[in-house]
Amino acid sequence: MEDREYGAYEGERRRGGPGGRGRYQRRRFCAFCVDKVDHIDYKDVNTLRRFISEQGYIDSRRRTGTCARHQRRLTLAIKRARHLALLPYTAEHVRRFS
Ligand SMILES: [Zn+2]
Repeated sequence: MEDREYGAYEGERRRGGPGGRGRYQRRRFCAFCVDKVDHIDYKDVNTLRRFISEQGYIDSRRRTGTCARHQRRLTLAIKRARHLALLPYTAEHVRRFS
């Protein structure tokens, strides 16, 4: 996960497009919409983790391509999971767990 900055640079350079949106997750569509997921399970830690930055923050919509509707549910699920200690709050914990 240390390829964060590198990935951003690479993406911008390679694509040369505006906005520098070529991130490691070049998902243009909402992953949940694609999978036709309606309910995001807070117990599905593996899925939730994909939407959390290495600092432990919830990734922004622009970064993951999640639509507003699912982003809301995702945020809720992540907060719930954190509350139940299924997900870490900080990077420190991320390292300890993985
Ligand atoms: Zn969606």
